[in-house]
Amino acid sequence: MPRRRLLVEDALGGRTLDRLVNTHCHSDHMGGNAALQRRHRCHTSVPVGEAPLIERWDEDALLLAYADQRAERFRVDATMAVGDRLGMGGIDWVAIGAPGHDTHALMFHAPRERILISGDALWEDGFGVLFPQLSGREGTFAETRRTLDSIAALDLRLVIPGHGEPFEAVDAALERAHSRLRAFEEDPARLARHAARVMLTFALLEKQRLPIAALPDYVERTGILRDINRRFLALAQQHFADWLVRELERARAAKREGDNLVPLITP
Ligand SMILES: [Zn+2]
Repeated sequence: MPRRRLLVEDALGGRTLDRLVNTHCHSDHMGGNAALQRRHRCHTSVPVGEAPLIERWDEDALLLAYADQRAERFRVDATMAVGDRLGMGGIDWVAIGAPGHDTHALMFHAPRERILISGDALWEDGFGVLFPQLSGREGTFAETRRTLDSIAALDLRLVIPGHGEPFEAVDAALERAHSRLRAFEEDPARLARHAARVMLTFALLEKQRLPIAALPDYVERTGILRDINRRFLALAQQHFADWLVRELERARAAKREGDNLVPLITP
């Protein structure tokens, strides 16, 4: 069983999952939906802007084939929009728009409990790759800033992010997110380099090894890496592949093992 589904089953402790709600539809968030639906027949909601992409299973817009990622097609039972209210776990939540990392993403705020489920809009250290900016969407930086400002305007005691542990030091996280955003805005190539590292790290975690000799071909075959390189970096394929290997080694995200690159971190 994939690790994420094991985590869900572990948290359920034998209970049935009635309801599945996605903040947005990247593979690392909705990749387990089909399996969870088969096992639990759970009612599944996605943000209203994502529903058409799921219905036509748009492998590019969902960053699947385009990013060399996979997810099993699933059924959407309902959509959610900004301002919608929903009860989960005995708590009342309100959906808040979170464009930036994903244009259609939502967050869920529990005003009484002062909790925010932030998805990939805010992590304790940063936020998810600003994919719309990489594909040339105007105003992504401004949208991201507005999303961070809308989080800052909430009275929160706890943020539950899409990656990492829940955290309480919200102001410090917002400060780090703002300074990262400023750095990307001043030098968009920096965002491109960051995104390329993240995408290769993610691929490596899934595959567990990549032959180093095949990487120049891989970075050209994988749409998102090819486009990042063409639009922002303009490196020769071999040079781009070599640079990525060095970067992942330097970040201690990967190491060479014989002729392969292998991950040093766990999903
Ligand atoms: Zn995401």
